[in-house]
Formats: sequence, C-alpha cells, structure tokens
Amino acid sequence: MQKPQTTRRALLRSLFATGMTLFMPVITQCSRKRALESLNTTPYAEEKTEGTNPGTIKEDELNNPAVTYCPRKCTLESLNIIPRAEWKAVEPNLEAAEENGVYDPQTNPAGWLVYTQPLTEVLNTIIVHHSALPLSDGPLEIQYKHMKQKGFADIGYNFIIDEVGQIYEGRNINTRGAHTGGHNTGTVGIVLLGNFEETTPPEIQLVALKTLGQCLKDEFNNITHLAGHRDFQPEVTVCPGKNLETLLPNLSIELGLDFGIEGYISPQLLLNTQ
Ligand SMILES: [Zn+2]
Repeated sequence: MQKPQTTRRALLRSLFATGMTLFMPVITQCSRKRALESLNTTPYAEEKTEGTNPGTIKEDELNNPAVTYCPRKCTLESLNIIPRAEWKAVEPNLEAAEENGVYDPQTNPAGWLVYTQPLTEVLNTIIVHHSALPLSDGPLEIQYKHMKQKGFADIGYNFIIDEVGQIYEGRNINTRGAHTGGHNTGTVGIVLLGNFEETTPPEIQLVALKTLGQCLKDEFNNITHLAGHRDFQPEVTVCPGKNLETLLPNLSIELGLDFGIEGYISPQLLLNTQ
C-alpha cells in the first residue's frame, strides 16, 4: 500500500480549515527564530496529520505570513510582551494596606505571595477582566489606581491587553495577583482595556487574548479553565462586561479549556497550608 503523503499545500489547507487565520497576527508576534527552530519538531499541524511527515518549511517561506504557522508549544517568551520597565511601572509596595507584608499562611494569608511551587502546579484558571476605564488609562494609570486607591502592593492584573492587541506585563506571574476577590491564588488575571458593557472588544484585542491564553495553557499545563471575573463574583461585578463575557465560552473551547469556575482550587489545598 502506498504510504500517504502530506503535501505542503494540504498542510496549509488543513491549517486554514482549522481556523489558523485567527492565529496570523499571533505569528507576527512569535519570534521568527523560535518558529524556525521548532519547524522540524512538532508544529500544530502535526496533530492533524498523524502518521505523516508535515514536511519542512524553509526560512524564505516564513517571510510570507500565509505560509507561516505558530510553533506547537507557545511560550510567554515568544510573545512581544511589553515589559514593566517600558511602561514605567513603579516597584511593588510591600507595605500596602491590602497586601501588607509578605505572605504567611498563618499570620498573614493576605500578604504578598510569591509562589514557591512550580507555576505548572499552581496555576489553574485564567480570569478575564475589562478595565471599565477610558482607553487613555493604560497600565501605568491602572497601577496607580490599584496602589493608591485600592491599597494593593502593585497592579493587580498579571497581563494587560490594549485596544490594538499589545500585551503588557503586569504583576509578575510568579506572584499572586489582586483582581478577583477571594480567588486570586492560582489564577491568572488578564485585563482588556475598554468597557465592554458599552462597547465590543476589537478583533485584534481578542486575537491577542487568544494568543496569550494559548501560551499560558502551553506553558502551564495545569491551567484547565477560563472564566470571566463575574463568574466568580456575580453579586459584585459585571466585569468583563456583557459584550466580552458572552465570547468567553467559545474562546475556552478554541483554547481547549473548560469555561467557568470549577477549576479553581482553594489556597489551603493548593498551597498545602491546612
Ligand atoms: Zn474584573
């Protein structure tokens, strides 16, 4: 019997058929070098062509976005995340009213917690927020509000995505966030700039959210769930706004995650501080 051959054209067709177009802006953010390095290992397409050789793609073909594709395993490092220094973040204040001092399970459970376990064991749920502020209020303004008005030690979110899809580093991902009351341990807080009770997030911002979600899932494989802020605190907030919240179940499916709060693990269980 003749061995099945997967041509590059068939490979590309399968990529487009599986919604690869949504990943295109992602690819421009993925490092070209990393993409090259991964080409002969395990590209996404391999799952669709089991038992066949997806072939290799030469560097010059990477210059054409129509024939590039994302490495199978995305990493945060491969995204052009704008670092804190670039948006002039101030240093965390560990004497802040709401996160006063360093975490201690007995004496200061609300303190500043830098996870000691590997993040792959700790992180379980991505929580999506909107800023509910004018678009002119970016990471620096949010950090100021969180620190000066809410008494947090730092900006509460781990990542910020602006209206043109740029991703900013927020609170270091090794550190517990301050974004979803009572559910910050083991969750990753991502805020999209805008008020999505009133407007709809632009496509490019949603693509960035999906990209970031994919990388987080790839990098931290205990992340099983994605939810909106209001799924955790329906009595308290409408965040991330009805026009974003309604998109999240489908986004979860696209990312291979479950939608909702069931993946959340209490700090006592997660951190073994019974
Ligand atoms: Zn929120």
